[in-house]
Formats: sequence, C-alpha cells, structure tokens
Amino acid sequence: MSKAYEGSLTTKYIGTPSGLFDQSDDFWVINFPRSFTHQHTYGLLTPFFRGLTEGKLMATKCTNPECSENSTWLPPRADCPDCYARTEWVQVPSEGKIYAYTMLDYAGIGIEMETPYWQIDVQIEGVDTIFKGWLKQGKPVTGMPVKAEFRTEDPTYTILDICWVPK
Ligand SMILES: [Zn+2]
Repeated sequence: MSKAYEGSLTTKYIGTPSGLFDQSDDFWVINFPRSFTHQHTYGLLTPFFRGLTEGKLMATKCTNPECSENSTWLPPRADCPDCYARTEWVQVPSEGKIYAYTMLDYAGIGIEMETPYWQIDVQIEGVDTIFKGWLKQGKPVTGMPVKAEFRTEDPTYTILDICWVPK
C-alpha cells in the first residue's frame, strides 16, 4: 500500500478528446469509446475446453444409479438435468454423422468466423444429445460422416477450438 501523499500537486489531463458525434442548440452527443476485457469462468465445465486444446472431446455422463436416464451430455452439463446429480467426465469419439445443417450468413457475437459457413449438428455414438459445430470444408449432407479437428496449437480457449471435416 502506498503512503498518502500530502504535498502540493500539479495535475493535467492525459486523455484523448473524444469529439462531438452530434449536436444541436439543445444537446450534445459525444463519442465515448471504451473497451473492456470480460473475464469469464468455465467453472466446472473447464475439462471440456481443456480437452479441446488436447485434441479430446469430453462429455459428461450421469452415473447416478437412481437416475431414470443416465444420459451422456455434449455440450457437457455439470449436473444431470434429469436427476440433478453431479455428472462424470467421459471421453467420447471425435467423429460422427451430420444430423442437420444450415448455412450461417451472420455469426454470433464472439464467433470470429468468416461468413457464410456451414453450421452442422453432429450425432456422435454414445452421446445422447446432438452437438453443434461448423464444417471447415466441403458441403454437408445429412448422414455424412465427419471427424473433428482440434486447434491444439495456438488455441483460442473457446468453442472455436473444434471444427469438423468430412471423414
Ligand atoms: Zn441423472
């Protein structure tokens, strides 16, 4: 902790003037540029994202003997939506078949992708949910076998560390 300063000071403005965006006799609108870094925790889902950087597709499975479903979830769920028990991590195959697809003209915020691209839903053996992703190359067809590619070098630490290619 720094000691409180008690002497006289000379203080100056060190910013960059923003400028007027719009104005009239009654109001001013100024440009107010700001940027920020959002620190987001993956919490209990961290093994999924770590798995992508290691070339593994990690899902969660409910192993509660009293659960009526014991489903395997991808994207993973920390807690089973059917019985609310904590799930367990399992590695699932990094290949599957295209279940459905659509062309994306506008990527969502944070999806740093050239558009258009093919968004595909992938059916994976042993997984009870359909996993959404994107096809890196080629043209999707329902039932087409695909395999995952992982961005293990220079990862983004986001969902963009996995994509799919024709198998
Ligand atoms: Zn369950």
